[in-house]
Amino acid sequence: MSYQETRNQGVAAYVRATGRDAYWHALAEQRAQFVDEHGRLRRELAEEVPCAVCGPGDAVLVFEKDGFPYLRCTSCGTVFIGTQLRESVLDEFWSAAPVAAMWLDVLLSPAQLEFDRRKFEHALDDVEQLRGGPGRVLDVGSSVGTFLDVARARGWTVAGVEPGERARALARESYGLELAQDVADHAHERFDLVTFWEVVEHTKRPVELLGLVAPLLADHGVLLSLVGGNAGSIANRVMRASSAAFDFARLWYFTPSSYERLLARAGLRGVELRGVLGEIDTAMNYLRYDDPYRPVFEEPVLAEATISALQAESERPELAYKFLSLARAA
Ligand SMILES: [Zn+2]
Repeated sequence: MSYQETRNQGVAAYVRATGRDAYWHALAEQRAQFVDEHGRLRRELAEEVPCAVCGPGDAVLVFEKDGFPYLRCTSCGTVFIGTQLRESVLDEFWSAAPVAAMWLDVLLSPAQLEFDRRKFEHALDDVEQLRGGPGRVLDVGSSVGTFLDVARARGWTVAGVEPGERARALARESYGLELAQDVADHAHERFDLVTFWEVVEHTKRPVELLGLVAPLLADHGVLLSLVGGNAGSIANRVMRASSAAFDFARLWYFTPSSYERLLARAGLRGVELRGVLGEIDTAMNYLRYDDPYRPVFEEPVLAEATISALQAESERPELAYKFLSLARAA
């Protein structure tokens, strides 16, 4: 089934076709191991953190989910998990948890591959237009390597970094890609494009990570970030804790403007911004008191014309489910 066909049947069909339902089930079991008998994050696993963009400052609680408090920074608008899993626990989760390995299977499912390949082609259209063609690219957090495979086919010279051992093995098997374990392995090279596909918002120290890759950009080089969990998204604002975007392994929920501030702290500036996915169908399910991720069908809460207008509005970067940012040295 093609992506469009799957997507036209609603988000729920897509969830099943990619194996996300099994993954979410396993994730819930994993999550249960992090909380105590009161449903609170176990203290020995936890650490309190300030906003990644602003540092210590005012933040207000917006909701709690699965024992984790989600705060909103009153200065920049980033929503973040204020009491997070410690770095060693998260590292262990990414490298050794069976559920993290299941995510790699989701990524290699045919429906997901088709969706991702279109996403990567579309983004590379933008980048190639901006810089006049392919060049050298470094992908940070390559996972199974699908993006690099797409880029290579378009004429890019590719390099990737992936800390996960199983993901590196799958990249080798699936695409013949040899990925480095650490950004430091490429510290003496320069790239026309550095990419983060939903990576920065999962890392403990985003400013540090951006500061590490900024010097790797060649003259007129571009940093591309796809940022998931937009705190400004209509769907996330409406559904809050019921949105699948909010989960313990995604630590920061930037908005386009707070991400811009983050880039500035690493000596970068945004040059282009695009909204990715509106997710109005899930929000409509939610407004009907349904499971947001069940198939979309009869009795929409709002008039068709209103939903269409909302859909168009929700694809603006400020309101979209995710956003794509292109940046350059400031
Ligand atoms: Zn902030």
